[in-house]
This record gives sequence, C-alpha cells and structure tokens, in this order.
Amino acid sequence: MEPRKRMEYLAGELLRHQHLYYVLARPEVSDAEYDRLLDELLQLEMRFPQYASANSPSRRVGSDLDNSFPERPHAVPVLSLDKLYQPQEAAQWLRKTAAACGNEPGFTVEEKIDGASIVLYYDRGELQYALTRGNGLVGNDVSANVRTIGQVPLRIAETSSLAVRGEIYITRGDFAAFNAGLPEKYANPRNLAAGSLRNLKSALAARVPLNFFAYEGFFPAGREGRPGESSGRDHLEILHRLAGLGFRVHPRPGFFCDSEARRERALQLFPEATVAPLSAVEDHLRRLGEARASVPYDIDGLVIKLVEMDMRQELGFTTHHPRWAMAYKFDSPQARSELLDVQVQVGRNGRVTPVAVLKPVQLSGSTVTRATLHNQDYIDMLELGIGDQVGISKRGDVIPAVEEVLDKSVASPSVYRLPENCPFCATRLVKEGAHHFCRNEECPERRRRALSYFCAREQMDIETLGEKTIAFLFARGWVRTVPDIYSFDVERLHGEEGFKERKIARIRASVEASRKQPFARVLAALGFEGVAAAVVAALIAHGFDDIDKIIAAAARNDWQAFAAVEGIGEATARQLVGHFSAPANLETIARLRAAGLQFRAEGAAPERVDDSLVGQVWVITGSFARFNPRSLAADEIRKRGGRVAESVTARTTHLLAGASAGSKLAKAEKLGVAVVSEDEFLSLLRKNQTK
Ligand SMILES: [Zn+2]
Repeated sequence: MEPRKRMEYLAGELLRHQHLYYVLARPEVSDAEYDRLLDELLQLEMRFPQYASANSPSRRVGSDLDNSFPERPHAVPVLSLDKLYQPQEAAQWLRKTAAACGNEPGFTVEEKIDGASIVLYYDRGELQYALTRGNGLVGNDVSANVRTIGQVPLRIAETSSLAVRGEIYITRGDFAAFNAGLPEKYANPRNLAAGSLRNLKSALAARVPLNFFAYEGFFPAGREGRPGESSGRDHLEILHRLAGLGFRVHPRPGFFCDSEARRERALQLFPEATVAPLSAVEDHLRRLGEARASVPYDIDGLVIKLVEMDMRQELGFTTHHPRWAMAYKFDSPQARSELLDVQVQVGRNGRVTPVAVLKPVQLSGSTVTRATLHNQDYIDMLELGIGDQVGISKRGDVIPAVEEVLDKSVASPSVYRLPENCPFCATRLVKEGAHHFCRNEECPERRRRALSYFCAREQMDIETLGEKTIAFLFARGWVRTVPDIYSFDVERLHGEEGFKERKIARIRASVEASRKQPFARVLAALGFEGVAAAVVAALIAHGFDDIDKIIAAAARNDWQAFAAVEGIGEATARQLVGHFSAPANLETIARLRAAGLQFRAEGAAPERVDDSLVGQVWVITGSFARFNPRSLAADEIRKRGGRVAESVTARTTHLLAGASAGSKLAKAEKLGVAVVSEDEFLSLLRKNQTK
C-alpha cells in the first residue's frame, strides 16, 4: 500500500480504537496491538511528515516543543450563567421561565463540574482548535494540549462547522494520585485541570489523566440531522447527536417537563435519565446536592437549561446572562467584592505570588482587603480580570481567597496577566510548574525577604529585627545578606531617627542571643528552598546532625544518602545536594559559623577523621587566628578521638594555648601539662593527615 493511504488507514483505525477505549470504555484490541499500530503510524509520520495531519491520533502523545496560547475570538460568545444558591429559588426561576414560554417547555438539569471549560471548533470533520472561555468573547488557543485528551474527538463524521462546549476535569482519585508525584502541589482538581491546559509542553499535559464531558453543541442553523438522527432544535436531541458523533456526554441528565410524551422521548434518548414533571425539580436539586460527594469528581452546582432552541431565542439575554439557563450553586460565596488591582509579591526563593487588592468587605468578623491568587494558573482558571465582581471566602483557611468570578467587568473584560519581568529587579520571570519565579539571586526583594525570614520568630527569633528595621538596614546597605546581621556595627545606629539608646541595646542583645539558637533552627532559617523545619528535623534524626556531614554528602553528589532519610524524596534530596554545594551558600555558612552560630546538633558526634588523639584530654584557652570561634579547634580534637574539657586538672594531657592565655596556662605549667601553640597544633593536624 502506498504510504499516504496506509497512514490514513492507520489514523482512522487508531482514532476508532481511541474512541472505543476512552469514551466508550469498550476496547476491541489489546494495548500491545494498539501500540503496534501507533508505532507504525509514528514511523511513517517521521518519514513522510507532509502527510501527517494536525489531528493525527499520534497527537495524543503530545510534544516537547514549547506551546504558545494565542488569543482567538469565539464564534459564539460564551456568557456566564446567572447564579442562585437555594433550591427553592431555582425552582421558582424554573416556574417563572416555564410560564413565560407556555406550551409545556422542557428543562434539563446537568452537573456543573468543577473543571476548566473549553470550546472545541470543528470544520469539515476535523478539530480546528480548542479555546478556553477567556472573557467570553476571546479565548486562548490551547489546541495542542486538548488534542492529548483521549476523550476529545479529533475527527468526527460531521462535515459542517460545529462548536462544542464542555468541561475538562480530573477525578478526585486521579488528582490525589497524580498530585502526590508532583514537586509543586496543586490546590485542587480544578486547579490542576486548568493548569494542564496551559502546560507549555503538551507531552506533559498528556500525562495528566484528564476527562472531558460535552454539554452544549452549536450546529449550523437549518442543518437537520440525517433521517433517523436527532434534530438540532432541542438541547437533549443535540446532546444525543453529539454522543453519536463520538463525544462523551453525561449519560444521566435530569429532564423535567409536564408533557408525558416528551418525557418518554427523553428516556428513549437517555435511558438512564431522571425524568419527572416540573413540580419535582426542587426535590431533585436537593437530592443531587446532598449526594455530591458520591460523584467521583467535584461538582459545585447544577445547571438548569430550557431545551427548546426556538424558545431560547425568544427569551434572549440580559446584558450578562442568557435568560433561558440558570446555575444553581451548592455553596454561596461568603462575601462579594470587586477586584481593584493585583499586587505582585516576590518571595525569598523568587516565587511570584499575585495578591488581589479588593474593595473592602466584611467577612467572618474582619475587613478583607487582600486575598491570595496563588499563581497565573489560578487566575487563568478563574478567568479573572481587574474590575470583576468576585466571590471571596475563608473556607478552612485563615487566608481569604478569591473563589470565583461572579460578574465580568464590562469596562475591562480581559484576564489579568502577570508582568513579564520582576517588578523589583526587572529580571525576566520564568515559569516552572504552576508558578513564576524571579531567578535573580541578587534581587533586592528576595534579599529583603530572606533577611526577614531568617529573623522571624519561627526561625532565629531576633524580634528586634522586624520587617521595618530590616528594610531600613537593607536600604542603608548595612545589612544586605544574612551574615551581615552578625557583622554590621550596631553602633552606627546611634543618631538615626527612631533608634534610641535602649532600642540599640536590645538589638545588640537579641542578635547576640540568636547565636545560641540550636542547629535545627539555624539550618531552617537559611531558607533554602525545600529545606523547611520538617526536612531539617528528619535530616538530624537520621544522623545528619552536623553541617559538615551534610556538606560532605553534597560534595560527593550523594543524593541517595539524603533520599534514604525518611520523609525525603528524590526531588528534595537532589535539591539538598544543590543547596549545600553551591559556593554562595557555602560562603554564607562559613561566615555564620565564624560568627559563632550553631552548626551541629547538641549531642552530635563529629565525623571521625582518625584516632591520633585517642586517650588525650585537651583544654583550650586564649584566642586564635585560625580557630575562631574556639569550638572549631575543639571539633578538630574530637574528630581525632580526643576529649575536650573545660578546666585544667591532673587528668589534662594537653593545653592548646592561644594569644593572651591566662590562669589556665599558669596552672598547666605547674602541673606539667604539655602546652601546644596554635602553629604547633596546626602542624600536628597536618602531620596526621599526611600519615
Ligand atoms: Zn527580582
């Protein structure tokens, strides 16, 4: 067979098998047989790329090339639905709408899945492109990622143009399993589904177990179905027709109508549908609301739609919403506000967090003016823009969050985008996982944040160096890095506004006191990404109780040693190697160590170098050029098996005497203890090393 024909045949077969597998869950061939067909097609596509189609079943695999998401207008504007929060209100809306229609109208009740909405555009039987909702008029083209979703048909047996709306979602079970393997966790299934649609690499999007349900179809006007096929004038018939074209539609819609004949027709189309007269709708809404947890994916409400297309047209639209449909939502937002602005925060590790600036609103007893927006994916998921009316809540959390857009702003209908560059240092931001980062280590905002983090109560607890004081010292250039906290001259603060004698004394004392903070706190306070208190505790419990042991493992690139620690995975282990071998970090550690901070857990034994000092008891006195603080000399003695004691006694074997040694030296000489100078000590250490 000629290659082109063979490729067409393979593509047709593979698409048929994909439909059987993903949509109908009724595969006809084994996975191995499927893979064989796909491999053959991939080979041919490599040899004859000119014959490969944009909708080849091979597109399910995705690509490693960077995606872009150009804007495109929607053929039919995607309006948001008006929302109600009580079943009786929804039932009342239904009665009123039915009365306006007359002639026994029918209504569907469908699940409002908490995912990402998408519009698929087909022409001449091929998927042309897939757009996000965007602001309803213009969406982003996410076709490459959508093509990887097995439940989205790439080719259909319908030659006229067709737009299909639906929801892309992930089940709670798949979300939990998939999220567990990600270094950066997604907050919820909706966030992951929406984030995957905007994945830069479609090969990565292909790995996310995404599902698709179609819930609305727009066939061209006047185009009737073939004989025996559903017409395009009734929503239920359209859903049935979509199913016939290979789309996955929900098999159990609710259908409410006072005509018995039409209820029977609905059951013919959807044998698993719930059908009843209009009066039963309120009970139905209540029941589904109570049973929402038994559905394997998140639903946040139900959508009630009038089914007759001609009556829909008669009812028309308000400025924001269609009059023939309504969303009944299970949870009302706790407060309503307006998004005035978005502030961009940059954390100590460079992570960018957009924060909503809100019109002040009362929420659980406090005035809320700001709320987290997490990241660009979250904003995209909400399709949020400045000026929008938003629902705010504090569910299960103390930090208020923007949960949904209630009404898009008419004045500025676009979706907010993070700036391309860091607002503090103008470095271009990079996206990794769900977040954007400023990767400039010198970024002043990152520096300032790192200093504040180090001094905060949970870390080194230097309470006199609060955000304001740090900002002042930073602006003066006196404290730019963490070790500067211990080296800057506190006396310079004399005469500065707001720094009275007592305050300066307190700063001096609290900086001094922090030198005694235990190793676990010091290590966590350094604020290396992924090295939070829990990881530090695990490291110490496992025996990494001395910074030298950690640095040694990192220098050997021994991430497996870290991964052997309970609670530390490979990703964190590799991060640890990076952190503790980076020259800048090693310098920070060296400077802090020289400042006398604790770099070994209490009771930890230093790593043994050799046994050359076993049986010896050393006392250290005076000051040293090389061993500053003196504990560095004590470490060297212990590493060689020697003991270090506080005072000179009859059992003392050696006295290490530095400059201006006093009474201990006199006593040692009296007892005939060997007195060793710093130089002698150094050569002793070296001699043993070469041995
Ligand atoms: Zn920056």
